[in-house]
Amino acid sequence: MLAPRNKDERALFDPQVQALPADALAALRAERLSALLTRARAATASRYRGLGDALDGLPILTAAHLADEVDAHPPFGRMQLAAAPFIRAALAAGALPRPTPIAWTRADLDAEARLGARALRRSGLGARGRSSDTLDGGLVAPGTLAVSDALDALDALALPVGTVTNDAALQRVVEVWQIVRPEVLIVDAPSFAYLMRATGYDRPRAFAALLTPAHAIELAEPPQLDLYRIFSVPQICSFVAGECAAHDGYHLAEDAVAAEIVSDDAAPVPDGARGRLLLTTLTRSLALLRFDTGLWAELDRTPCSCGETHARLRFA
Ligand SMILES: [Zn+2]
Repeated sequence: MLAPRNKDERALFDPQVQALPADALAALRAERLSALLTRARAATASRYRGLGDALDGLPILTAAHLADEVDAHPPFGRMQLAAAPFIRAALAAGALPRPTPIAWTRADLDAEARLGARALRRSGLGARGRSSDTLDGGLVAPGTLAVSDALDALDALALPVGTVTNDAALQRVVEVWQIVRPEVLIVDAPSFAYLMRATGYDRPRAFAALLTPAHAIELAEPPQLDLYRIFSVPQICSFVAGECAAHDGYHLAEDAVAAEIVSDDAAPVPDGARGRLLLTTLTRSLALLRFDTGLWAELDRTPCSCGETHARLRFA
């Protein structure tokens, strides 16, 4: 049964999951990790042979490993476990040595839409809300397709306009923005950098910026009250984590993604201490275990004033 979702009244799109008590959240993570390990053991990828019952015995998966695996076993590599049909593909960039094709099943896309709605809801966008996005088209992830799915799930208005990184591009879209008046602009990093400085348009109430591991500096910058940054690693999840109204870290989607912080020699690092950020897909058909984002981060499991119980990431 689908849990009720809140499109209007509160900042939590999926309150039953986002405010799950810590012990129930830990149990959900353990259950999903166990199911993932069972699926990964059945996969043909040689690195998953002899997989035990825990993640920490497994070698770290680097971006180069993933790109090589996909090259060696086209189209999507042997870590792609789906028996279900793929219904979308795109090139994932950011943290990868070269653009690498990844694919989604129906279930993957439904999960992404829900997580995207969760991330965008934090910026105050809800049903009948109006947004416009400057993300790339179909070829690149994270792109406008992922955002459109999330806005569908939110019942909010989407207006894709393409990247806006110079005065000519702004001139092209400013008229339609004057008519539609988006309250939230969903932006890629280059468009955000331009639009922050530009003056020839009415500023929206808030920006939601999708940032990948290629944007280590932007992820670690001090928060801004009108900016809701979303951490996207498309091969893991388009909406791994996002800032809430408290603007004090990025809430990890712990029901979909497992995060580990480790030292340079791969030893676990305690909560609150800096280390390398590894991510694992818990529910996606592409089973990436212990993917090295190349970023330094810390995990905070203390309660957040927004009411979400999922751990927060901070980038360093
Ligand atoms: Zn919060």
